[in-house]
Amino acid sequence: MSYDCPNCGASGLDVFYEAGEIPVHSCIMLNRREDALAFPRRALTLGACPQCAFISNILFDSSVQAYTAGYEEQQSFSPRFRTFQTEMIGDLIRTYDLHHKDVIEIGCGKGDFLVELCETGKNRGIGIDPTSDPERLEGPGGERVRFLKELYGPQHADLPADFVCCRHTLEHIPATHEFVGMIREVIGDRRDVVVFFEVPAVERVLEEEAFWDVYYEHCSYFSLGSLAHVFRRNRFDIIELRKDFDEQYLLIVVRPVSSVRKTERANEDDISKIADGVATFREGVRRTIDGWRDRLTALKRQDRCVAVWGSGSKCVSFLSAMGPELKIDAIVDINSFRHGKWLAGIGRQVEAPESLVGYAPDLVVVMNPIYLDEIQRHLDSMGISAEVTAV
Ligand SMILES: [Zn+2]
Repeated sequence: MSYDCPNCGASGLDVFYEAGEIPVHSCIMLNRREDALAFPRRALTLGACPQCAFISNILFDSSVQAYTAGYEEQQSFSPRFRTFQTEMIGDLIRTYDLHHKDVIEIGCGKGDFLVELCETGKNRGIGIDPTSDPERLEGPGGERVRFLKELYGPQHADLPADFVCCRHTLEHIPATHEFVGMIREVIGDRRDVVVFFEVPAVERVLEEEAFWDVYYEHCSYFSLGSLAHVFRRNRFDIIELRKDFDEQYLLIVVRPVSSVRKTERANEDDISKIADGVATFREGVRRTIDGWRDRLTALKRQDRCVAVWGSGSKCVSFLSAMGPELKIDAIVDINSFRHGKWLAGIGRQVEAPESLVGYAPDLVVVMNPIYLDEIQRHLDSMGISAEVTAV
């Protein structure tokens, strides 16, 4: 069967990875172990577009996705992440003169980015997200922002907007062209609206065979080229296009136009690079998965204590691939809203990092290398001298 690209419309996606049946959510935290173990699963099979380099789960079933209360995606508990966010907000305010403006954030999560953007630039904000939780926000910025606990859609066309942002949301949407097209329709004839999107970068996922970065919630995977493509296709001119956060994220800033300038930026030309990455991933990912499983299984056989630091989507994906036979001793996270909750599909409880004092782990597996320094300092402060390694 041939599948069409939801990003550019070309036919014949090249299938290169089958993860099998995995939990359909990885950020929904459960209150009971039984519910976590019984969490719905669906198959994930990645196909790559030879025309635009877009990658998608061709078997994605959006009917099983429910972004509701209990969804814990907030990353701003980490000082490293907060620094990144604050610097980006400063850049956006300076570059696009975001002072006393109307800002909309599509998929704002718990709203900490929007609140900081509005507080720093004295802007007015509207955050649209079914999982938003205004009660959790602290500080005066909360007064500048209101939340709509729903999915974004054409009904929001009348909301005032000088700046529309959407961070780490587009990768959860299967029909990317349709979604960007809807935003373009909603903007209509306005020409002064600045639109900013941020998504994870697929390039390093492929090159590093980072199977933990592939999970059900993410049905769409972008390169700079495929991201630029879908905005051009929907009559946006590209103002900024780059990677950030140690090349883990892609950032794009665009403006609506009536007809698109054809000149492409040099960094959009990545079709052959992504094709090479797909070949690397296809060839090596099973070996990488088996390598991790063998290493951790050997440690457990020697009765060594293994902990995982970070209980988000990467952790759920990593442990799903390891299989239920591998018994990790502890899973910890600095997000206190996760403590005591159970991981979907995995059926393991998340604990506070301080619990590691009691475990005295021999190995701590960190789910994102960007947090290694911060986590090492945290371990040092608790007097824990474990080996620390990142996926
Ligand atoms: Zn395509």
